[in-house]
Amino acid sequence: MFSMSASAEINSRLHRLVEELRKRGYRVTAQRLTIARIVLENAKRHPSFMQLLGEIRKQVPSISPSTVYNNLQLLEQLGFIKSFDVAGETHYDEAEPHVNIVCIDTNEIIDIKPGNTMAKFIADLQSVKQGISVYEIIVHAFCRKESA
Ligand SMILES: [Zn+2]
Repeated sequence: MFSMSASAEINSRLHRLVEELRKRGYRVTAQRLTIARIVLENAKRHPSFMQLLGEIRKQVPSISPSTVYNNLQLLEQLGFIKSFDVAGETHYDEAEPHVNIVCIDTNEIIDIKPGNTMAKFIADLQSVKQGISVYEIIVHAFCRKESA
């Protein structure tokens, strides 16, 4: 209804990132912002590092994996994304506290949207101790799909 469009939401996060980078003395380059935009646009889908590298190379073909990695580290350090490992691969995700379901059969990662029960669960966890902030909740589950 009155929610911001996806791109307005990403633009506002990029704006916040620019402020944060300047405040901490990091250089604000076009390349860094291109990487950040692609990462923020794709974070909902829990991309792996290689998937993100592929997306970024569509727009910056010559970029090295280490440059991408360093930028991902910085985005995570500044609280714009988070990462977790599934089956030995690092996946990236939106920073907002939410619950991920990881399927043990397929390694598929699915978000539980912070609806009533889970939102209350996260709020309860955060009230256990003052200053605690939920970083990541992962539920491992079976999808019971027949394997091919
Ligand atoms: Zn997620």
